[in-house]
Amino acid sequence: MSKRKVVVGFSGGVTSAWCAGWALRNYPRDEVVLLWHDTKAEHKDTYRFLEEMERALGMVRTERSDGRTLDEVVIDEGMIPNNRAAFCSRILKQEPGNKYIRELQEQGITEIIRVIGYSALETERIQRQWAIAWTQSTLWCPVTVRFPIVEESITKQDCADWCSCVMGVVPSEQYEDFEHANCDGCWRGKYNYWLKVKEVRPDIFAQRAALEREVGYSCLPDVFLEELSNRPVGKSYHRKESIEIGPCECGS
Ligand code: SF4
Repeated sequence: MSKRKVVVGFSGGVTSAWCAGWALRNYPRDEVVLLWHDTKAEHKDTYRFLEEMERALGMVRTERSDGRTLDEVVIDEGMIPNNRAAFCSRILKQEPGNKYIRELQEQGITEIIRVIGYSALETERIQRQWAIAWTQSTLWCPVTVRFPIVEESITKQDCADWCSCVMGVVPSEQYEDFEHANCDGCWRGKYNYWLKVKEVRPDIFAQRAALEREVGYSCLPDVFLEELSNRPVGKSYHRKESIEIGPCECGS
């Protein structure tokens, strides 16, 4: 058995799916792990994408989840997450991921390479992941991190095209309205994001607004979601890395 593991963050997004394919092209299959954390708040089509993509890759994802729903975490913490304090991400994704790395080290794995689908635009997140990998390294088990999207100069559109045209798996419907396949109603969203949620997913918007009132905090700095439509926002929701996920033209 190999003593090295290549742990790909497999989130349901197009970049992480492309990274899974990249890892399988660059490392022995038995070393690759597709690590997934269920927030129990993903868009239903993201769950479909995950299942179809793991079948297309011939892999079974490894799940390490907190077990609680996103709402349960918010209620337990007595706070609403926001763009600067996204404790939901820490509890539901980072901590189960860190526990899995420790689990591998305790199993005697001697080298861990974490593979993350960040783009070159996400410099702060990349630096942070390097720092985390450094703290996770031990004398007998170094942990390093690779960012194939940056290394290979791949765009998000390239990743979406690869999912559709090469793997035959249509990206999550979440990309039709939002730039990431995040939780339905991501607490890190800002004003225009929430106006877009209100427009296209009024059910989710109403649920998030009610939870804000129940907990007594808002995710935005100066307004509760239920009051948001009364505020002049002034610009439309802008997707920095928007992608087209319409019919694929490359044949199949
Ligand atoms: S996607 Fe958004 S709401 Fe979901 S865990 Fe991450 S920060 Fe929290």
